[in-house]
Amino acid sequence: TQMLRVSSKIPTWYPATFFSSSSVPTVKLFIDGKFVESKTDKWIDFHNPATNEVIGRVPKATQAEMNAAVESCKRAFPSWAETSVLSRQQILLRYQQLIKENLKEVAKLITLEQGKTLADAEGDVFRGLQVVEHACSVTSLLMGETMPSITKDMDIYSYRLPLGVCAGIAPFNFPAMIPLWMFPMAMVCGNTYLMKPSERVPGATMFLAKLLQDSGAPDGTLNIIHGQHEAVNFICDHPDIKAISFVGSNQAGEYIYERGSRNGKRVQANLGAKNHGVVMPDANKENTLNQLVGAAFGAAGQRCMALSTAILVGEAKKWLPELVERAKKLRVNAGDQPGADLGPLITPQAKERVCHIIESGTKEGASILLDGRKIKVKGYEKGNFIGPTIISGVKSNMTCYKEEIFGPVLVVMEAESLDEAIKMVNDNPYGNGTAIFTTNGATARKYSHLVDVGQVGVNVPIPVPLPMFSFTGSRSSFRGDTNFYGKQGIQFYTQLKTITSQWKEEDSLLSAPAVVMPT
Ligand code: NAD
Repeated sequence: TQMLRVSSKIPTWYPATFFSSSSVPTVKLFIDGKFVESKTDKWIDFHNPATNEVIGRVPKATQAEMNAAVESCKRAFPSWAETSVLSRQQILLRYQQLIKENLKEVAKLITLEQGKTLADAEGDVFRGLQVVEHACSVTSLLMGETMPSITKDMDIYSYRLPLGVCAGIAPFNFPAMIPLWMFPMAMVCGNTYLMKPSERVPGATMFLAKLLQDSGAPDGTLNIIHGQHEAVNFICDHPDIKAISFVGSNQAGEYIYERGSRNGKRVQANLGAKNHGVVMPDANKENTLNQLVGAAFGAAGQRCMALSTAILVGEAKKWLPELVERAKKLRVNAGDQPGADLGPLITPQAKERVCHIIESGTKEGASILLDGRKIKVKGYEKGNFIGPTIISGVKSNMTCYKEEIFGPVLVVMEAESLDEAIKMVNDNPYGNGTAIFTTNGATARKYSHLVDVGQVGVNVPIPVPLPMFSFTGSRSSFRGDTNFYGKQGIQFYTQLKTITSQWKEEDSLLSAPAVVMPT
C-alpha cells in the first residue's frame, strides 16, 4: 500500500452519528440500535478514488462485536416477526419517503467513496429505492395459499413466514442499490438482518441504516458490522444466521456459497459477468452506437451489467470507427465535477489490473483502437482514472475476453451471422446480461429464445429487471436457486408452513381409530 495523505476536510454533510470526527474519521458499527465505535485494533483505510486521499477507516469488527450484533438480531426477531405486516409496511412507507428526501445526500457520499458521477450515484440510490417501494406491497406479496374442503370438513392453507436472522454481504460498485436489495426485503418479511457493507464504500449503508431507524425500525432489527474475510467467515459459520445474500466477485461468492451451504444456510449469490451486445446490421446505427458506448463506459465499466463485449454481425463491423469516435468524446473526470461522464476506478490496484488486461490484448494479437491508459485528469492527477478503451479483433481464447475486466474497456468481436453470435454468447460461462440491437422482430425473438443468459435486452443495453420482477442472472453469474428481489426475493426470505385442519360437527366425529392412510 502506498502512503496516502489524510483528507484535510471531511465534508460537513458527512453525518456525525455514524462517523466520528477524529483526525482520521472512523466508521461506526450499528449494534442494537446504536452507532458505536469499534474496540478493534484492526482498521482498513478507504479512499476517495478521484484523489486517493484517505476518507476514513472502517473497523474489522471483533468477534465479540459480531456476536453482539447477531445476538441483537436474534433478540429482536420474535417480536418483529409477530409485528403485524401492516405495521412493518408503515415503516417501509416512511423509509421510502426518507430515502427520497435524502437521495442527493446519499448520492454525494457514493460519489465521494466510490467515484461514480453524481448523476449515476443518484441512479444507484433510485434503483434501490424502487426495491423499497416495491417491498411496500408486502401485504399482498406475503399471502399464502388456501384450498378449502380438501376432504370432508378439512381445509389446507399455507403461511409465508420469516426465517429468523438473515445476513447480507455487499460489493463496492453499488453502495446503495445492492444493500437495498437485501435488508428491506428481508425485514419486511419479518426477518432481522445483519449487514456487512463493502469495506471500500461503507458510508451509504450507514446513512441508509440511520434513515431506517428514523423510519421507526425497532432496535436490533438491523445490525451492521464491518470487516473482510473474518466477518464473512463469521457470517458463513454462525449457527443463528439462517440465510446469506451475497453480491460480488466469483472468487468470494463461490466460497461463500459453498461454506454457507455446507453450514445448512440458504445462500443466494450474484456473481461476475461478461455481457455481450450483439449488433445486427439492420439495427438503428445512431441509437445503437450511443447505447453501446453508454453501457460499456458508464460507471467506468464497474457494473456487473456493463455491456463490455460487442459482437458486430456482418456489415455492422463497418461501424467500428464511429464507435471509437463516440467513445473518445466521453469526458473523464472526478464524479462530482460538472459534465463528467465517467469517474475513476475504485483503487490503484484495480487500475493496474485493468491496464494489465489491456496490455495482454496487444500481446495476444488484438488491436487497441482507443487507449485510455495514459489519460490525465487535470486537478486529479493522483486519481485512478482510465479513459474509454476499445480493443478489437478479440478472440475467445484471449485474456481480455476470458476475464471480467470491470473497467472502461469495450472488447469487440465479429460474427458472420446471428447463429454464430448466439453460439459465442452461449459458449461464454457467464449468464448475467446480454442485449441484441436490431429492427427485426424475428431476429430479436430468435435471440431472446436461444441465448442462454438470464437477462436479455432487446434494444435495451442494460436490462436490469424492475423490482416486481427479479434479478435473474444465470450460469456462472449466479449461485443458488432463488434470485434477488421480486417474488423470488420474497421466497428467499420466507419459508412456508402448511396447515391441514379438520373441524367436524359433533355427529360426524370418528367412532373408531383410523389405521390406514386416508384414500
Ligand atoms: P468482492 O467479491 O471483492 O467483494 C464483495 C464482498 O465480499 C465484500 O463485502 C468483501 O468484503 C467480501 N470479500 C471479498 N473478497 C473476499 C474473499 N476472498 N473471501 C471472503 N469475502 C470476500 O467484489 P467487489 O470487487 O466488491 O465487486 C465487484 C464484483 O461484483 C464484480 O465481479 C461484479 O460483476 C460483481 N457484481 C455482481 C452483481 C450481480 O448482481 N451479479 C452486482 C454487482 C457486482
